[in-house]
Amino acid sequence: MELKNNKYQLTDGIDPLELCKEFGTPLYVYDAAIMERQYQRITAAYSYPKFKVHYACKALSNLSVLRFFKKLGSALDCVSIGEVKLGLRAGYAPEDILYTPNFAGLEEYGEAVAAGVKINIDAIPMLENWGLHFKNVPICIRINPHLMAGGNEKISVGHIDSKFGISIHQLPHVLRIVENQGLNVIGLHMHTGSDILDVDVFLRGAEILLEAARKFPNLQYIDLGSGYKVPYKPDDIETDVEEVGEKLSLFFAEFCKEYGRELTLMIEPGKFLVSEAGYLFAKCTLVKQTTSTAFVGLETGFNHLIRPMFYGSYHKIVNVTEPTFKPRIYNVVGNICETDTFAVDRRIAEVVEGDVIGFYNAGAYGYTMASNFNCRPRPAEVMIYKGKAHLIRKRETFEDVIRGQIEVEM
Ligand SMILES: *Cc1c(COP(=O)(O)O)cnc(C)c1O
Repeated sequence: MELKNNKYQLTDGIDPLELCKEFGTPLYVYDAAIMERQYQRITAAYSYPKFKVHYACKALSNLSVLRFFKKLGSALDCVSIGEVKLGLRAGYAPEDILYTPNFAGLEEYGEAVAAGVKINIDAIPMLENWGLHFKNVPICIRINPHLMAGGNEKISVGHIDSKFGISIHQLPHVLRIVENQGLNVIGLHMHTGSDILDVDVFLRGAEILLEAARKFPNLQYIDLGSGYKVPYKPDDIETDVEEVGEKLSLFFAEFCKEYGRELTLMIEPGKFLVSEAGYLFAKCTLVKQTTSTAFVGLETGFNHLIRPMFYGSYHKIVNVTEPTFKPRIYNVVGNICETDTFAVDRRIAEVVEGDVIGFYNAGAYGYTMASNFNCRPRPAEVMIYKGKAHLIRKRETFEDVIRGQIEVEM
């Protein structure tokens, strides 16, 4: 979203204020053109020919978004059986879906096997179960290379105390189980964290995984996960995906020569593909001036966008209604009865009641992490596709919020 002639504009000159009028607020808006730009950018970064992007749909799991990535040629990364069902509903072929749950039980794995999707196993007890229940179903194994990577502790999943994956130090144990039970391991996987900046961290991770790969003769693919950081503010640092792609492609091609076969190289970006494509728009309900601070209060809160409170993440925030007013310093807060702070000491064009406030980088982990906390309905979602705004999810009503409750007669 850019400021042109003192007015904010989305792709194709679409006026965000018009969308807010038409669909109401708070409102999530996703720009398909930006998703496509990101998809093309990451695909172009990898020159290795047998390369496949698996969109990590937990970042933004609206069916229309899934259908859009399918149209672009993407496969899908799913972390639950629910996401697998979503992928199948959106039209993905089972073989284009990788199921990578964490602490899923045997029953859920059984459902994924029945659905025919690719299976990723990330715990030794499940590996032991596999031979008993699904011996002939090929598997991928998630390895934890113990890299300390990722933007902060909550999103760093590769370090030594992480609950994700099977430790690289347990590889001999894994190999014994695979051999004893005659398991067919066709893939190796890792995903070390969410905001990796250092190209060497990607390379080091790949190095560890490919070293392990030499011990598995039947591999068809290797999945290097995600970790691509996007910019959140002007001149913010971001992962150099072109450099990562080029170095990993070369490294992988070399490995395949030694391995004796061209394997498929997979990655599974979520945030990179959708973060910048999404905006959250919400009106200011009140401006409250205390003795020390000016609060801009919004008709939304961490029930709709929890990243700032959960991860301490930064979102650029603008006054969409009055972009040219003189900037003032504000704390931007939500309307939830919990500390609900989106931003502290932020320069924003002077806000008055009713102004529409816009959040950038709201595409990833926005709506998918939203809840009904405080009995507030979730927003509507709109996707801009081919120059037109499409409502892709209705705003919830009070009835939606209480659906499923059963009232005991008293
Ligand atoms: C969350 C997740 C991803 C995507 O991470 P991003 O930081 O959004 O790119 C990829 N793979 C797995 C297994 C995940 O759990």
